[in-house]
Amino acid sequence: MKVLKFGGTSVGSAKSIKIVADIILQYQQQQMHCATVVSAMGGVTDRLLDISQEAAQGNEEYKERLSELEKHHFTAARELIGVHAQSKVFARLKTLFNELDDLVHGVYLLRERSPRTMDLVLSFGERLSAYLISQYLNELGARAEFLDAREIIVTDKTFNNAKVDFTATNQKIQDYFRDHEALQIVTGFVAATPEQETTTLGRGGSDYTASILGAALNAEEIEIWTDVDGVMTADPRQVSTAFSLDAISYIEAMEMSHFGAKVIYPPTLLPVLGANIPLRIRNTFHREFPGTLVSKNPYASTVHQALNNAKAPAVKGISSIKEVAMLTLEGSGMVGTPGISSRLFGALAQRGINIIIITQASSEHTITFAVSPADAEAAQRTMSEEFANEIAAGKIIPPVAERNLSIVAIVGENMRQTPGISGRLFIALGRNGVNVRAIAQGSSEANLSVVIAQRNLHKALNTVHEAFFLSEKKTLNVFLVGIGLIGKTLLQQIAQQREYLQKNRILEISVIGIANSKRMAFSETGLNPGEWQSTLEQVGEEADMQAFVQRMKEMNMPNSVFVDCTASQDVTEYYAEVLQSAISIVTPNKLANSGSHQAYQQLQMAARQAGVQFLYETNVGASLPVIRVIQDLKDSGDKIYKIEGILSGTLSYLFNTFTSEKRFSDIVRQAKELGYTEPNPREDLLGTDVARKILILAREVGIPLELQDVEVENMLPPACMEANSPEEFLKALEAADGDFTQRLRQAEEQSEKLRFVATLEDERATVRLLSVGADHPFYALSGSDNIISFTTSRYRDRPLVVKGSGAGAEVTAAGVFADLISVSNYLYQ
Ligand code: ASP
Ligand code: MG
Repeated sequence: MKVLKFGGTSVGSAKSIKIVADIILQYQQQQMHCATVVSAMGGVTDRLLDISQEAAQGNEEYKERLSELEKHHFTAARELIGVHAQSKVFARLKTLFNELDDLVHGVYLLRERSPRTMDLVLSFGERLSAYLISQYLNELGARAEFLDAREIIVTDKTFNNAKVDFTATNQKIQDYFRDHEALQIVTGFVAATPEQETTTLGRGGSDYTASILGAALNAEEIEIWTDVDGVMTADPRQVSTAFSLDAISYIEAMEMSHFGAKVIYPPTLLPVLGANIPLRIRNTFHREFPGTLVSKNPYASTVHQALNNAKAPAVKGISSIKEVAMLTLEGSGMVGTPGISSRLFGALAQRGINIIIITQASSEHTITFAVSPADAEAAQRTMSEEFANEIAAGKIIPPVAERNLSIVAIVGENMRQTPGISGRLFIALGRNGVNVRAIAQGSSEANLSVVIAQRNLHKALNTVHEAFFLSEKKTLNVFLVGIGLIGKTLLQQIAQQREYLQKNRILEISVIGIANSKRMAFSETGLNPGEWQSTLEQVGEEADMQAFVQRMKEMNMPNSVFVDCTASQDVTEYYAEVLQSAISIVTPNKLANSGSHQAYQQLQMAARQAGVQFLYETNVGASLPVIRVIQDLKDSGDKIYKIEGILSGTLSYLFNTFTSEKRFSDIVRQAKELGYTEPNPREDLLGTDVARKILILAREVGIPLELQDVEVENMLPPACMEANSPEEFLKALEAADGDFTQRLRQAEEQSEKLRFVATLEDERATVRLLSVGADHPFYALSGSDNIISFTTSRYRDRPLVVKGSGAGAEVTAAGVFADLISVSNYLYQ
C-alpha cells in the first residue's frame, strides 16, 4: 500500500488533474494499492479566507468572488466529466456550493467569522476537489470513491490547528479501509471532533493527512506530489544553483522545513518518523524525476551505496528566515545570577512569544535571542517589565530590538562529529564581508544558525551554498569600468578564456557590470563580454561613477571584483569605499597608489580589514611580475638593497633606437608617429610616469616616500615646457639635440649606452639618464622592453632580473586577468 498526496498546484486545473489521474492509473495498472489524498485546487483555500473576510466586513463583493470560485470548479468539471455523468456531478457540486453560499451568507449577516466557522468554510476546498477528482477517475474507468476525512480523522476542538487523537483516528482509518476495497480519494487538511464538528489541521495540512493515513495503514511509502523537484539544497528563488537532494533524513527534513524551505508541512514527519515509513517528495510536472527520499537513515540507503558514497555530504541544505528581530538582555547584574534566563524566557512564554534562536556567551554578560519581527515590540516590553527593578538599579541595560536581520542555517545530520564545517561557513561569510551577529548550534549539531544583516542574505546564501555544494565550482563577479584599449582587450580575453577556465579551473568569470565614460550596464546573471558594445547601446544607461559604485554595492554579489581600467583620478576616489564594502579591486590605474602615502596606506588597510584583495601588478611593467616579486622576496625574508628599472616602454624605445647618426628629436617624432608615445611626447620625457612607478615600488618595499621625494632629472630645455602643442614641443626639443648627441658620444667613448633608469637605493628614489657599461644588465636592452633588476641579500652579486614587454594593451590586460585569477585563488583557497 502506498499513500499518494497531490498538492494544490497538482490539482489546480483540469489539465493538471489529468496528469494526476494518469499517475494514479499507472500505479493501478502495476497492481499497486494506493490511497490518495488531495488538497483544494490551487489558491482555493486563500480565496475562501478572503471571501469570508469580505463577508464578515459586510462587503457584498464576496458574492461575486464566490460565484467566480464556483465558475472555476465548474469549468474544470466540464472539461473532465463526459456529458452522460455531468448532470449527477454538477448537481453534487451545486449542492456543495449552495451550502457554502448559505454558510458565508451567515458570516455576512453576523459579521463574524469564528475559527470554528472558518474551518467549516475552508473544508469546502478539499471536499470539492476530492469529489471532482474521484468522479473523473470513475470516468476513466477506475473504481474510485470519495472519502471525506471527517469520517476517519478525529481531533480536539483547536479549530484552525486541531490536534489529532491518534488512537481513535488509527482505529477509524483501519476499520474504514478494511471495509472499502476501492481506490479512496481523500480530502486533505480537514478532520472532525468526536461531535462531528469540522476542524482543520493547519495551513498546508494535507501533507499531514497523508502521513496520518500512511502511518495508520502501515504504508510502504508515502509520496508527496508537489510542483518542485523535491527538497532542494537551498531556496531556488534565492540561489540559482540550488539542486534537489536525492535522500535526506527525517531530522534533516524537519530542520529544513522548519526554516523556510516549505516543501513539507513540518508536523507531517511525526507520524511517519514513529512508524519509520519513507516519504518521497515528487514533482507532478516532472514525473520521470525520482525526487527526494526522506527516511530514517538515508546514508545507508541503496541510493548512496550505489553512488559509492562512503560518507554522505555533511551539509544537506541551507535554509533561511528572511526577517527576524534580535533582542539582548545585557548587564553586569546577570553574571553568576541563577534564574535570569528562566525569568526571561518564562515571561516571554507567558506572552506567547516564540523564540527562534538563543545564544549566551560563557561570560554570562548577555543573552541574545531572535523572534519574528511581529513579536519584537512585545518582547521588548516584556523584558522591560520583567526586569524593571534591575533596569532601574542600572544592573541591566534597557533592551532594544534590532530589526532587518536574517537567519541562515546549514542543516545536516552528518555535521555531527565532522570538524571543519563551521570553519568553512565562517570563512565563506568572512571573505564576502558578511558580519555574523549571533551564532547558535544545537548540541544535536544538525543545524548551525547564524544571524546576519538582511541586506546580506542573498549574498550569504549564495556564498555558503557555493562553499558547501559547489566547492567544485568557483565564480568571480566582475564589475569593469573603463573600456578603452585595455578594458576592451580584457573583455576579449575573458570571452576567449571562458571555456578553458570552466574546464580546467572550474572558474566562471561573470561580467556583471560594465561602464565606459558614456554608458553603463548591469546584469545579475552576467553580460556577454564579447558583446559589450551592443549591450551598452541597447540596455545601458547613462554612465555615472557614483551610481555605478552604489549599484555594485546594492547588488551585493558574492566574490565581487571591481576592475578599474581607466586612468582616471576620479575613479580612484571610490577605492576605499569599494574595499570597505568587501569588494576586491584589480587595476592597472596607478594613480591611487602614487597619490599621498597616507592614501596608499589607507587602501592597504581597508583591503586587509575587509578581508579582500587589492591587486595592481600592472601598475609597473604591465604583466611582468614586479610587485609580486617584491612581496615574495619580503615574505621569504630577503632584504632588498636596490631596485633599478627601465620602467617606460616609450623611453626604453627612444634610447634603444638613438644613435649618433640621428637627431634625438627625430627619434621622438618617429616614435610619436608609430604611436609609441603619449599624444604629447612631453608626458613621457618628463619622467613623471616613471617616477610614479618607482614610487609605488618604494612603497611596496616599505619606504614611505611621496611623489615629490622622487628625484627626476629634467632632460628638457625650458622652451619645451612652454610649448603649447605636440608640434611646438617637438620643435623646441630640437634645441636639446646637441646635448643628447654629446651625452651619447661620451657614453660610446667608454663603450657604454644611454638608459633612462629609475633607481631605488638607500631609501632614495631617482629617475635619471644614465650611461651603463656592458656588464650592466640594462646594456643589452632592445625595442621597447622593460627591465627591472633587484639586488638583495640573496641576489647580491648577480641580481634578479625581470625583463620583457612592459607596455601595450595585450600584456597589460593579461596582467589584469592574472590578478583576477589571483583573487579567485584567494577567495577559494
Ligand atoms: N488547502 C490547504 C492549504 O492551502 C491544505 C493543503 O493544501 O495542504 O493550506
Ligand atoms: Mg607588473
